[in-house]
Amino acid sequence: MSASGTKMWTFTLAFILTFSLPFTLSIEVKEPPTIGIVGGGIGGTSTAYFLRQLFGNDAKIDIFEKRHIGGRLATLTMGDHQFEARGTLIHPKNMYMVNFTRLLGLEQLQVGGGTFGIFDGSSMRVTSSKYSLVTMAKLFWRYGMDIYNIDSWINEKLLSKFMRIYDIQRAGHAYTTVPDLIGAMDPAFVSYMKKSIKFVMKTAGFGDKFIDEMVMAALRTNYGQNTEVPGFVGAVCLAGVQPGLWAVKGGNKQVPQKLVAEAKAQVLQGTVMSVQLLQYQDKTYRVEYVDAEKKERHKDYDIVIIATPLHDEMSEIDFEDFPSPIENFPQKFHKLTATFVEGTPNSNYYGIDNAEEVPIEILTCNDTILLNSQGKKEDVLGNPANVYKVFSNIPPSEENIKQMFTSKKDIRMFSMMAYPEYSTVGEELPPFVLHDSLYYLNGIELAASAMEMSSIAGKNVALLAYNHWHGNLDKIDEPYLDPVSEKDKTEL
Ligand SMILES: Cc1cc2nc3c(=O)[nH]c(=O)nc-3n(C[C@H](O)[C@H](O)[C@H](O)COP(=O)(O)OP(=O)(O)OC[C@H]3O[C@@H](n4cnc5c(N)ncnc54)[C@H](O)[C@@H]3O)c2cc1C
Repeated sequence: MSASGTKMWTFTLAFILTFSLPFTLSIEVKEPPTIGIVGGGIGGTSTAYFLRQLFGNDAKIDIFEKRHIGGRLATLTMGDHQFEARGTLIHPKNMYMVNFTRLLGLEQLQVGGGTFGIFDGSSMRVTSSKYSLVTMAKLFWRYGMDIYNIDSWINEKLLSKFMRIYDIQRAGHAYTTVPDLIGAMDPAFVSYMKKSIKFVMKTAGFGDKFIDEMVMAALRTNYGQNTEVPGFVGAVCLAGVQPGLWAVKGGNKQVPQKLVAEAKAQVLQGTVMSVQLLQYQDKTYRVEYVDAEKKERHKDYDIVIIATPLHDEMSEIDFEDFPSPIENFPQKFHKLTATFVEGTPNSNYYGIDNAEEVPIEILTCNDTILLNSQGKKEDVLGNPANVYKVFSNIPPSEENIKQMFTSKKDIRMFSMMAYPEYSTVGEELPPFVLHDSLYYLNGIELAASAMEMSSIAGKNVALLAYNHWHGNLDKIDEPYLDPVSEKDKTEL
């Protein structure tokens, strides 16, 4: 802890008591901290917002951003339209994203809900109909009761437990490791991180056909991976194909952009190169960065928060002069290619005779084929467009595109480090606390990568910083007893 970490403002108040004896009272008030956040995605900007709420107006909050505020929330322009290019869908029960959208004066835009089909590389295993009763009959015929049971399984066994996090965080509790945070929602979730979603769902009674087709299709669409991923991320992924999904009208990136202003944070445009532990100085950490004019600069802080994956191919931050070394975490990131095509899909490629019958969303259940998913997209304002978004784990060749589309007016393609490559036998999850007042947010992505997960981690890190700063150690890594069970206890 730096000198300022323990520095106090001392106010001396003199009271003259009624019987005229002089009495001196000292009240120690801790100086508000200076905070540097590295990364201006939804994680870094939501952290800034929560820190401002906790520390009040006098804390100084800087956000370092090397590219654009929004990070993996970004749009792509084609003609007169903008499309969500990365993080797109938000669950109706993602309460931080719901509340940010309302607070920032933004609107929800309902997305999805069109026809869909599951393609195995040569033909469609199942397709929906525009009539919902027909769709339910077809799905029941193929998957039996699994198709009815999945919604209650997600809602009762997963979402209702997941949503405990909002009460826990409202009560000010914070956790120093990812498993402790996830386990606070439900201890079963920690074991879900070590077993595959296939195993978890089979144990819950779901059949092979449902898992190999529907669950596989959801995983290939949302994470470009298969049913061997851990149960926790698999469950988050399945919630991502439930009804009622939405995006922010005009683009999800507006949330982080507007959170910066709401948090009264200063954006420093530049690439952070290192965080150094200071000795015998007023502040604890020095952040060295190269600014937009390529000038090397530094700024010192009481608290530093890393809100970008510490991964060789994604950030280049060195940690200097720490008593034990802080290394980049060795987890693999999943490389994904998004191809946007303005044109007409080739129905024959999907084994469909009639071009009119090509589903709006095509999911895939075979992890040996090129295509993860293909969907006809509306723009960020909800306007129709003749544009298809294709996800694949490797870039499609010109020949691939020729086979998939009978006509093409415009094509945009880009590859990205999208999210972790999930495994049940992965390394230890990185902690939220790297050093006394140095925090790391993106370890949460190894449990599951999603906008809401980054916001939950943002609130956790903000609470850790606040609780550490004020010595509220009873709110760190302590179990949260919800008010109902407390009441039950006293009534017994
Ligand atoms: C293709 C795709 C589809 C997705 N779909 C969904 C979805 O439908 N729903 C959903 O909820 N989630 C989805 N996600 C996941 C979601 O987008 C991410 O989990 C979330 O946006 C991560 O936010 P973050 O702030 O933690 O990280 P990022 O958004 O990556 O932010 C990190 C920021 O740090 C900056 N930075 C990095 N290094 C430095 C440095 N040295 N100095 C200064 N700045 C630095 C980067 O430029 C970046 O802006 C998707 C992701 C991808 C890629």
